[in-house]
This record gives sequence, C-alpha cells and structure tokens, in this order.
Amino acid sequence: MTAPQLTFSAGLKSKLPDVGTTIFTTMSQMAQQYNALNLSQGFPAFDPPAFLTERLVHHLKHSTNQYAPMAGVPALREALSEKAVMLYGAAYNPETEITITSGATEALFCAISSVVGIGDEVIVIEPAYDSYAPAIRLCGGIPVYLTLESPDFCMDWEQLARLISPKTRLIIINTPNNPTGLVWEKSDLDRLAALVRGTGIFVISDEVYEHIVFDGAHFSVMMHEELAPRAFVIGSFGKTFHITGWKVGYCYAPEGLTCEFRKVHQFLTFSVSVTAQFALADILLREKAHYLGLSAFYEHKRNLFNDCLKQTRFRFTPAKGTFFQTVSFEGLTDETDRELVERLTRETQVAAIPVSAFYRHPKGGKMIRFCFAKDDDTLLAAGERLCKIQW
Ligand code: PMP
Ligand code: GLN
Repeated sequence: MTAPQLTFSAGLKSKLPDVGTTIFTTMSQMAQQYNALNLSQGFPAFDPPAFLTERLVHHLKHSTNQYAPMAGVPALREALSEKAVMLYGAAYNPETEITITSGATEALFCAISSVVGIGDEVIVIEPAYDSYAPAIRLCGGIPVYLTLESPDFCMDWEQLARLISPKTRLIIINTPNNPTGLVWEKSDLDRLAALVRGTGIFVISDEVYEHIVFDGAHFSVMMHEELAPRAFVIGSFGKTFHITGWKVGYCYAPEGLTCEFRKVHQFLTFSVSVTAQFALADILLREKAHYLGLSAFYEHKRNLFNDCLKQTRFRFTPAKGTFFQTVSFEGLTDETDRELVERLTRETQVAAIPVSAFYRHPKGGKMIRFCFAKDDDTLLAAGERLCKIQW
C-alpha cells in the first residue's frame, strides 16, 4: 500500500502512516477500468432473496424510520439467540449478550477496543483480514504475527505457544478463513483452549463465513465450553444474505464482555439501520433454509470454477469454506503476486487479489485469490480466459 500525501497541516502525525487504500478497493477499481471480470473483492454478485427485500420495503413504509435501540432491534437479537441454540446449542441472552453492529468490521473494532489498551499484544494469524491490525494499532496495541506459510498455510501451534507472553491480551482467529479457505475443527479449538487456559487472554472469533463450509460442519467458538466464556463471536448478514452493502453484523459475547463492547459501539455508531434490522428479524428463523442451503449453493460454484482451474497451470487445494479459492503460480512466472493480478486484470480481463496483501511483510509468496461468489456464466467465462494466460 502507498501512504497518501498529507496536503494540509504538516503537523498532523498519522496514526496509521503506512496505511493506504485497501487492495479490495484498488482491484475492484482496476477491474472496472479494464472491463475485467471482477473476481477480486469478496462480494456476492447476486440479488438478496426476494423474501428479504419484500420485508425491507414493508418496514420502510410501515415501521419507524428513527433510531434503532443502541444494542439492536430486540426481535433481531432474539432471533439470533434462537439461531445460536438451534445451530450451535449455545445459550446467549439477547438482552445482555448479543449486539447488532454496522457489519462485522464494526464488531471487530468494538471487540478489539473493549479489551486492548496501550502496549497490549494481540496475536494475529496471517494471512489475515486487513482490518484487524489497524484496529489494534489505533487502540495502542501491538499486533504480534503468527505467519503461516503458503501454499498450505498449516497452523503452527508451537510458534503460537512461543508468541504468547505476559502482555498477550487477545488472540484473533478466523474460521472459515479468508483468504485461505481453511476451516478449523474442534481439535483446533481444543489446542487453542489449552494454550489460553489459566491466562487472561481473550479471543475474537471472526465467523463471517459460518454458513459456507463444504467438507464437514462449521464448529463455532460458541460451542466450545472453555473458549466461549472469553470470546467475542462475530458474524455478518452480508455474507449470508448477499447484502454486503447493508452493513449489518453482530457479536455474541458473555455479559461482561458485551457490556464493554456496547460502550464502544454506543459512541462509534450508536445504532444500525433500523429498517434492515426489522427485515432481517422477520426472516432469520422463518427462512433458515436459505442459509442452511448456502454451503451447497457455493459448493456447486467452487466445483464449477475449480473444474475450469484444473485446465490452467495454477495449482490449488479446493477451499474447504468461504467463497474464495486461492491458487499457486509457483514456478510459472517471476512476477510478484501483485504484478500478476495487475497483468491478469489488464490482459486477461480477470481480476484477483494478491495473497501477499494479507501479510504484514509480504515475503513473495506465489499465490492469488479468486472470489467465486459469481454467476455460473461469469465463472465459466473467467475460467476460459484463465486458460489462455501467456506465461
Ligand atoms: N471478516 C472477514 C474475514 C471478512 O472477509 C470480511 C469482509 N468480507 C469482514 C470481516 C467484514 O465484514 P462486513 O462486510 O460485515 O463488515
Ligand atoms: N472482505 C472482502 C474481501 O476479502 C472485502 C471487504 C472490503 O472491501 N473491505 O474481499
């Protein structure tokens, strides 16, 4: 990322001097510029289900359009509470333990701000979603990186144990994982639990892709007896109902954590789109077939796209979850992943994301990420174009 020039007030000391425009914005803009198929930024190319937009229009006309309650519309929190019981056997009190946020991004920020102070260390497992580290740094915390190596991104438990220090305040995990497509199993959570046992370390579990898992089931931190009491479990309706633009997310956390979380949320956004919340509350339990069928919906797309990729020179292991497929181009070109995605956008007219963007210090890994949350025709057209790459 390139740091922007300060044009006013040379005395301003940036808190994030190295942060520029995110790679997702950059690549989406480039895709537009070159009229490329945009398999870069992760957003579904589908309309939200009609049962949801119908409710949205209904509430726009017939319900209040004024501030929602700070913690979220009660009916939506109640529905989320029931959903947690139904899917994960987890009991969260909608009054005191569930908060609706402006997307998962706000929930991540509130959770980090609730527990991280100056000099506190936070373990970030990279490749990692790009909002974690800036949020930690804005709180005066220090991101400590556990770096997983491409192409397999194998979890390094010994290294994690070594990184834990008396200053460690928080560990952030993300399963199913963006960008690797890996999914943690219960045994992974058991290993994490063993490492934090007897410490005051909190956990943030970013589970925004909870409904997109292909082989096996999603094991939520909510289900883990030892981890749940110290965890913020974060989700997003954006991924689940094809509504990333609505920016509605949520956080489940025990009462003591939620109390602090809401202090931040109250003064960061106060509350979230009331109409969107009413609409989501109406359908969350009634239309569960939608999200219970989401894995099958995306598995079809993953397989369709991967069948195309098999005819290219990229190498890959099929994603186990999320709507992302990472592929290796090791041995095919000397270009960096950034150079390659730029060339692909310009010449092949397919846009992707360089996996190095998910690392603090990109080490020249040879992987790029495609988003397959697109119409079948788009995926087939992209596949056809990728077969023609001139290496
Ligand atoms: N976490 C991960 C891992 C993500 O991939 C994303 C966005 N795609 C978010 C958080 C942010 O979610 P939201 O759009 O609901 O803020
Ligand atoms: N999470 C999305 C991705 O990984 C992008 C979100 C954003 O653009 N900030 O592509």
